[in-house]
Amino acid sequence: MLIDFHTHSTASDGALTPAELLSRAQARDVKALAVTDHDTVSGCLEAMATSVADLKVVSGLELSCRWGGTTIHIVGLGVNPAQQGLTALLASLDRLREERAGRIAEKLDGLGMPGALAGARGLAGSGQICRPHFANWLVNEGYAKTAGVAFDKWLGNGKAADSKTQWPELATTVTAIRAAGGLPVLAHPLKYRFTRTKLRALCSDFGAAGGIAVEIVNGRQASSEIAELSRLAQEMDLAVSIGSDFHRDWPHGADLGVDTAVARGLPAVWEMLL
Ligand code: AMP
Ligand code: MN
Ligand code: MN
Ligand code: MN
Repeated sequence: MLIDFHTHSTASDGALTPAELLSRAQARDVKALAVTDHDTVSGCLEAMATSVADLKVVSGLELSCRWGGTTIHIVGLGVNPAQQGLTALLASLDRLREERAGRIAEKLDGLGMPGALAGARGLAGSGQICRPHFANWLVNEGYAKTAGVAFDKWLGNGKAADSKTQWPELATTVTAIRAAGGLPVLAHPLKYRFTRTKLRALCSDFGAAGGIAVEIVNGRQASSEIAELSRLAQEMDLAVSIGSDFHRDWPHGADLGVDTAVARGLPAVWEMLL
């Protein structure tokens, strides 16, 4: 069975509207989908209000938080999007994103690229303002050839126009997802480029805080990485989740839908949600 528990829409940095995502998932024979936009439930709410035959929509979002000095992403699945504590957390994340956007734009201005805030906001529309909006603006203005180049030169972690953000602590975020009735999933564990020891420490803290699962598939991944993450989940007594992390149609990315068979019988979040 194909499912997808990690996707992005125009409510954050994805290119498709939630309704377009649902149609695409349906056309690809995906049976269950979560729209997990960065720090907002508006994409999920729109998806939940859109019904498509033979496709179950699971509520979700992807929350930014911090663990030590690193920004970590936690996907929350099956949350009640209207729960008060979650709403309050999202309001604080809105402010953090707005403030960060201002700082990024100031830095770009200082580097001789004025007008980034209005430009990025225009591309974000009513959605959450994200670094890819700045990257796309830099491409549109001719400052960078591709978004990847814009990240490499200015927007990537620690680069000249990046700005550290005091995201909530990991434990706060995990607790908030649980309080909203959801299952916290550690997103793309290999993207943090931690040593094995540090990754285990992260999983240990995540589990102790109430974390439930780790993503063993996030987009295109080597089978050796899936095997490594499956072992990690087992060792750390965590369930598994899978998703494409689809943002847009592009040749290097994964399309919607991951086969649940990849879990090889490990405890899985879809067994808890479907
Ligand atoms: P933000 O949460 O606003 O800091 O933006 C993070 C998003 O930027 C990620 O979810 C990716 O979609 C995108 N991203 C991060 N690093 C890169 C990169 N090197 N090249 C292109 N996109 C990136
Ligand atoms: Mn993204
Ligand atoms: Mn992420
Ligand atoms: Mn994502």
